[in-house]
Amino acid sequence: MQTDNLNKNYLLDYSREEINHYIQDMGMASYRTRQIMQGIYIQKLSDFTGLTTLSKSLRDTLNEKATLRTFKAIKTIKSDNDGTTKFLWSLNDGLKIESVIIYEGDRVTFCISSQVGCALDCQFCSTGKMGFLRNLSSGEIVEQVILMMEQAERPATNIVYMGMGEPLLNLKNVIKACYILSDPEGLAFSRKKITISTSGIAPAVRKLADMDAPFSLAISLNAVFEEKRRLLMPVSENFPLEMLIDNIRYYVSKTGKRVTFEYILIDGINDSKKDADQLIKLTNKLPCKINLIPCNSTDPRYPPTPNDRAKWFADYLHQRGRTATVRLRKGWEIQAACGQLYAENEIKIGRKNTGDD
Ligand code: SF4
Repeated sequence: MQTDNLNKNYLLDYSREEINHYIQDMGMASYRTRQIMQGIYIQKLSDFTGLTTLSKSLRDTLNEKATLRTFKAIKTIKSDNDGTTKFLWSLNDGLKIESVIIYEGDRVTFCISSQVGCALDCQFCSTGKMGFLRNLSSGEIVEQVILMMEQAERPATNIVYMGMGEPLLNLKNVIKACYILSDPEGLAFSRKKITISTSGIAPAVRKLADMDAPFSLAISLNAVFEEKRRLLMPVSENFPLEMLIDNIRYYVSKTGKRVTFEYILIDGINDSKKDADQLIKLTNKLPCKINLIPCNSTDPRYPPTPNDRAKWFADYLHQRGRTATVRLRKGWEIQAACGQLYAENEIKIGRKNTGDD
């Protein structure tokens, strides 16, 4: 990506090989690539001024032609309860995205966005209400991680694409970002600990299997009956459950990997014994784990399943041979679910602009 306002090359978009070509085109020796990778990913420099392994003239040339940052921090909110920290960033073109750090025992999860907005309109999701604005470049995905690394209390153990957007509808940039994040000469993040989460773009699940990408896959399932799923997640109209599960089975057999099903528990909507039985049926002989997450929507039509019922649901799955965990609701008081901080911020800005605040 060439950044609009600075008219510079955005080096977070570049793989190590591309950086190598780029600097050679500028007349620099190939061995400089390693020094530049160190500056970007180990020192986490925001520009090349501090890259003292390079001469001043090389640093000046790089600063003139290339950039390492395009984000402005708009808002950061930290939960007093559990440390969950949510960030709202303004991109180079003024559009905004969110990222979240979630602390859970030893786990530190960076939840990142892949698109600005989302076209898929899941009914319980604030991002879905924004509609789709654009894909993020791979560098914009990487920048979220670098900036959160600077702010996190402890190093990240997991990166999940569960922020704004549907990652499998931005597959090329998402996969490239995963490779950049896991480059052994850069951040060297464990490939297995990077999870791409989809709401059910069935053909892309198959494509991912054929690419043999060494990353983990999660599927946001949330309903196990077709009609109910279509109501909650209109993506199911194009890619029905049966097709999705078939393609997940293909993915598992092709890659030999286990998948994760995310299942948001909504009180009285998808948390009955009938739902649990159907979930068991759908996941029969499918190597998987199931994360049960009490719903975190701001929409009163989608209240969270109470804790005791969520525990019952998990136990019921356990007793029938499934690995199921109830994930705690994290950061609910800071609007930590996808798109909520954005929505809240836009409302406030709107109020300010109209003088209603
Ligand atoms: S839950 Fe994910 S896929 Fe669904 S509308 Fe929200 S961002 Fe898009």
